[in-house]
Amino acid sequence: MTKPQHHEIVVIGAGICGASIANELLERGKAVCLIDAASTPASACSSHAYAIAHPHIGKGSPRLLRLTRIAFLLAEARWGLVWKAHGIFQPTKKDKEFVLEELVDYLESLGLDNTMALPLDAEEAKKICGISQSGVWLPRGASLNLQEATQQLLNNQQRLTCMWNTRVMRLENHDEKWFLYGEDQEEILSADKAVIAAAMESKCLINSIGIRLPLKPVRGQLSIFSVAPDSPWAPKLPSVGISGEGYCLPAERLGDGSYRWIVGSSFDESEDDLSPRDSSDDFNREQAKGLVQYLDGDPNGLKKSGEFVGVRCVAGDRLPIIGALNQRPGIFLATALGSRGVLWSALAAKLIAAQVLDEDLALLARFGFAADLVAALAPARFFAGALAAPSALGALASNSKPVFPSGPNTK
Ligand SMILES: Cc1cc2nc3c(=O)[nH]c(=O)nc-3n(C[C@H](O)[C@H](O)[C@H](O)COP(=O)(O)OP(=O)(O)OC[C@H]3O[C@@H](n4cnc5c(N)ncnc54)[C@H](O)[C@@H]3O)c2cc1C
Repeated sequence: MTKPQHHEIVVIGAGICGASIANELLERGKAVCLIDAASTPASACSSHAYAIAHPHIGKGSPRLLRLTRIAFLLAEARWGLVWKAHGIFQPTKKDKEFVLEELVDYLESLGLDNTMALPLDAEEAKKICGISQSGVWLPRGASLNLQEATQQLLNNQQRLTCMWNTRVMRLENHDEKWFLYGEDQEEILSADKAVIAAAMESKCLINSIGIRLPLKPVRGQLSIFSVAPDSPWAPKLPSVGISGEGYCLPAERLGDGSYRWIVGSSFDESEDDLSPRDSSDDFNREQAKGLVQYLDGDPNGLKKSGEFVGVRCVAGDRLPIIGALNQRPGIFLATALGSRGVLWSALAAKLIAAQVLDEDLALLARFGFAADLVAALAPARFFAGALAAPSALGALASNSKPVFPSGPNTK
């Protein structure tokens, strides 16, 4: 039997999050060992081929909205090759009035110029997006195949070692090194620094080193609908993405004249069952009617031709958990990306790489990260005493009991 190897940096989890972090470290000249329970990258939630990305302008704390703008710019820069920038329209909410001047001021306050967000009345929206509803046009909004994006990040990397089919069950610290153990209690490897990016399973791994985190699963199903060329739905289908109560991609015309239209997603709290459900497709049919304002459309006109089912990992306050675990030096966490895997993984790559490489976090200011934003993402925010700390950059949690903040219920 060969002796388990020692690595400077190990990343656990080869979904979009772990792969983005590994890629950033590799691009900075580091050697990285990436380890995953599956036989290929992006086999779990990141097998999602139809994820959308845009800066957020709706509900949510100002901090969340600032973060999504920064993360969007980082994501756009990172995934150039697989980034499909078809634009995304966000219709005005039913209970909101469209007041142009107010919206212009609001978008400006979020730092979104009109290359990023443009308010449109219903007439302009019809011209530009083919949708007769007022709202905000996000011309740089995009969709991407998370699996392709993940694979691209790992291609042709000389300093990358991958260990597939290897489930890490626990971690232990001895002599300032982290030892990773597998399903048969065997030692897999040791590392100076370990990044945990294993979505929901991060909870058990962190638990093995005595820390509890408030993570929960949220099942989601996205439906792939087929629409016949002569269906009354056909003229209603959008040529851009729409994000509102649910989301959809631009409808795609196929060789036989029919349309393929992706609409999502269900949001099943605390569930992790991956089997497809007819009830989730019905839910998506209802969302589809609302998205294109075709409220009396016959749901049977949307024929199911496929689906994606995944389990999001969500934290108690709905923000991702990204940062060094101060109580366990050498451990870094990047999990709870929720429904924003594209944005948060791009942000995690920069933030975790800076912390792993022990850089001055003030350097992150060039991306717009201020100390309050770094603190808002840090694992330390969940531990007693941390919430009152002026800055979690230097905050050391006083114990490891999680505190469930009552955050906004942002999706
Ligand atoms: C229906 C649905 C719609 C969504 N829509 C969007 C969208 O439009 N836009 C968007 O940005 N996001 C969207 N998301 C969210 C996005 O898919 C996720 O946020 C993202 O894929 C999470 O990536 P991850 O790398 O954190 O986790 P995962 O992709 O789940 O990767 C975790 C990896 O860790 C590995 N692993 C787990 N445990 C261990 C262990 N013990 N040892 C070794 N390896 C381990 C797993 O094998 C896996 O490869 C959606 C999600 C769902 C379910």
